[in-house]
Amino acid sequence: MRYFPLFIDLKARKVLVVGGGEEALRKVRLLLKTEARIELIARELHPELTDLAIGGNIAWIGRDFSPSSLDGAACAFVAADEELSRRVSSEAHKRDILVNVVDEADLSSAIVPAIVDRDPVVVAVGTEGSAPVLAQGIRSELEADLPPFLGALTKAAGALRERVAQQVPAGSARRRFWRHFFFGSIRSAFTRGTAEFDHEVDAALQAFGEPTIGRVALVGAGPGDPELLTLKAQRKLREADVIVFDRLIGPQILEYARRDAERIAVGKEPGKHSISQEEINSILIREAKAGKQVVRLKGGDPYVFGRGGEEQAALTAAGIAVDVVPGITAALGCAAAIGLPLTQRGRNQSLTILTGASEDGTPEHDWSFLAQKGQAFAVYMGVGTAGHTQARLLNAGIDPFTPVTIVENGTLENERVVATVIGELSSTIRTNSIQGPAMIYVGLVRRNEASVVAFARKIAS
Ligand code: SAH
Repeated sequence: MRYFPLFIDLKARKVLVVGGGEEALRKVRLLLKTEARIELIARELHPELTDLAIGGNIAWIGRDFSPSSLDGAACAFVAADEELSRRVSSEAHKRDILVNVVDEADLSSAIVPAIVDRDPVVVAVGTEGSAPVLAQGIRSELEADLPPFLGALTKAAGALRERVAQQVPAGSARRRFWRHFFFGSIRSAFTRGTAEFDHEVDAALQAFGEPTIGRVALVGAGPGDPELLTLKAQRKLREADVIVFDRLIGPQILEYARRDAERIAVGKEPGKHSISQEEINSILIREAKAGKQVVRLKGGDPYVFGRGGEEQAALTAAGIAVDVVPGITAALGCAAAIGLPLTQRGRNQSLTILTGASEDGTPEHDWSFLAQKGQAFAVYMGVGTAGHTQARLLNAGIDPFTPVTIVENGTLENERVVATVIGELSSTIRTNSIQGPAMIYVGLVRRNEASVVAFARKIAS
């Protein structure tokens, strides 16, 4: 970041504007939102600027710029020809006065951001001058997201601050009160009039003033791509005081949390010392009992090979309320990412999901069922035990040319897809050094994988 965003108090400060045309007018309009004293230098004035000068909103102090025009100015805006722009810029730089020259980043020491104004809420969007069109686009999106009454709501919050400080304990409860104020039913009551607003505020002050016990949300984060988070998962992340997350959760997803939310990594990495399930459960219980809103963020879906059920049972036994937010499980997310239909008329009418690994040892499945022609299944955590899976299936009589698709780091930037056949599963994983996380799909094909199977048959015959 080369430019540091800063809100400057312009109350009663002098701001110099050099230029009298359309561009200068635009800057003056923005500046008129503040309480600055606007002084203008220009040879000719746009009619609207003339009106503003006559009305006393701005002061037309001269036709020609001289260095002393900058005396006492907090900052200067220039919308003039090149020669004049250079002069004003250099004089302002000499005196350490912030200067913005329209469309001339090189001559400017400050850049004006794109602004969404819901006074006192102001959102400023900047791109360090590199992409003004993008900044404008983001601004328009924010305009649509921020309701016009937001400014008034914020002022009402200011008037309530004292009462809230008296009635709602600082920390988590108070934060939740304000969240409820700005995003929950108080906000909607605000648009329905004073009586309803006051009523909602009283009820919330009462409710949030009482001691609370936290909740835990078991939240599915999906297979990795942050865009696959549900809206509810995003909201829970925003609201969380503490986030307890797994190894597979990427930093981009954690970006959805508040900056001041506590983050606890409880990653289980194969072969490394990791926190036991009991320890994870006790962390969740401890944090919730401290009155915090806890998100237990898990890869994919919390109920699919994620031990979500166990965590839920432990929390419920400890008297803690649990919400569950589903996520896109890896079998679905990775298949969609690579265009692999999971069911297809005339091919498979069912799909089995199974795990290749478990803490109680390598799991056994109904191999003779899975080996039947037409079966399709998706294997989680199957990389380390691929040799076992392959041997059991071949032993149960599976066609060795049954197609297999392996998706490593599905939906992520380093996603890799490898097609093979079941007779070659283990050696394919070895030669491609697949490390996981990976999904192994058996009995399903994309068009290009059909040719892998045909090729394998051909070289075998
Ligand atoms: N609860 C998770 C699964 C956890 S088990 C879910 O619903 O998806 C971890 C296994 O999920 C990994 O070993 C791998 O088989 C699979 N997995 C998770 N994320 C993946 C990804 N981005 N690409 C491929 N496989 C993934």
